[in-house]
Amino acid sequence: MLIVKKFGGTSVADKDRIYNVAERCLEDYKNGNDLVVVLSAMGKMTDVLIDQAKEINPNPSKRALDMLLVTGEQTSVALMEMAFDKLGVPAISLNAFQVAMHTTSVYGSARLKRIDTERIRHELEGKRIVIVTGFQGVNKYDDFTTLGRGGSDTTAVALAAALHADKCEIYTDVDGVYTADPRIVPGARKLKEISYDEMLDLATLGAGVLHNRSVEMARKYGVELVVRSSLNRNEGTTVREVTKVERMLVSGVAADKNATRISVIGLEDKPGIAFKLFDYIAKAGINVDMILQSIGRENKKDISFTVDENTADDAVRALEEHAKSLNAERIDVKKNVAKVSVVGAGMMSNPGVAAKMFECLFNAGINIRMISTSEIRVTVLIDENDCDRAVQAVHEGFGLED
Ligand code: ADP
Ligand code: ASP
Ligand code: MG
Repeated sequence: MLIVKKFGGTSVADKDRIYNVAERCLEDYKNGNDLVVVLSAMGKMTDVLIDQAKEINPNPSKRALDMLLVTGEQTSVALMEMAFDKLGVPAISLNAFQVAMHTTSVYGSARLKRIDTERIRHELEGKRIVIVTGFQGVNKYDDFTTLGRGGSDTTAVALAAALHADKCEIYTDVDGVYTADPRIVPGARKLKEISYDEMLDLATLGAGVLHNRSVEMARKYGVELVVRSSLNRNEGTTVREVTKVERMLVSGVAADKNATRISVIGLEDKPGIAFKLFDYIAKAGINVDMILQSIGRENKKDISFTVDENTADDAVRALEEHAKSLNAERIDVKKNVAKVSVVGAGMMSNPGVAAKMFECLFNAGINIRMISTSEIRVTVLIDENDCDRAVQAVHEGFGLED
């Protein structure tokens, strides 16, 4: 069997953890399996590197930043090779160049395009455990790129797909996917399985346990994922196409504290204004999330939308550049907001989920600033200070706890 195993930062944070990972891999290896092990940078290494970069230059070039960040993953794989060596197991560490893992050109948020599998296959044939750097790739300029924070999960899924692996296991510091972040809701319940669609929504809406692109890719290539802990032997959560008739009404609550709300006040109430506004934002390469347009009054209207807080300044700059053409009264920015979402495939056939969520928030005295929905989710924008309380209230209101 060919198994891809991915271990996150906490799982390789120090010497003991590195040996723990090596020992666990060894069990599979001794049973005759081929292993590809994807690693993240040790502990909080990526954050440390970002801080270091900003000390030197508050606005480092994205290319140079990626050049720096890839060293985190490279350290992990090199040390892991040394650990296997000490245990007397043949292993080889490879970075994105050596594999090679080809990505799009954008530094900081590149997408994997193609993976050459020859080198890995050759090493596996030699009965070596192959240890690969997560999170990184190489673009057409032969530069290192990174896949966005949390991107090692995506490296693992992409490798599993490219190598037609029999299993893809994501080892982390929790023993599965829970109905909410167990750090915010201690009574959250572990899910035995979850569908790709639900997991994709949860991951996109803030459940950092999996990188959302990893779920997207797993769905596209039909890679079944198992999320479990590297620190215990508990059964994890399987992410796959769930076809059970009986779907859960709500499978989880997610929160994202990195949202910023931008309101453009006093726009002219005539056709083409929204197009113009969002075209400027799109041309600046900024993703927009929730959108709300007020009812017109005296030929004026307001448009509000949310963006990731890292892109908020760029968004405002893009609007200000076109202030004349937009002819708005003013732009209002609110940074301390958070998105809280309930996700569940069962919503499709059950009305009242949104009302129930709003009731929970009302009972907790929490004000809703914006609302958006899809077939399988309801999202509200609230003050960041209310976020944890909102997650707890909604989680309890839907009876999700153990
Ligand atoms: P790794 O470094 O292993 O990739 P991450 O920190 O990226 O680990 O992801 C694991 C964390 O995700 C957990 O510690 C947990 O706090 C958080 N998390 C957020 N939402 C959920 C959820 N629904 N289920 C489980 N963990 C969650
Ligand atoms: N080390 C990277 C990060 O901290 C990638 C990952 O952990 O998946 O974002
Ligand atoms: Mg992660």
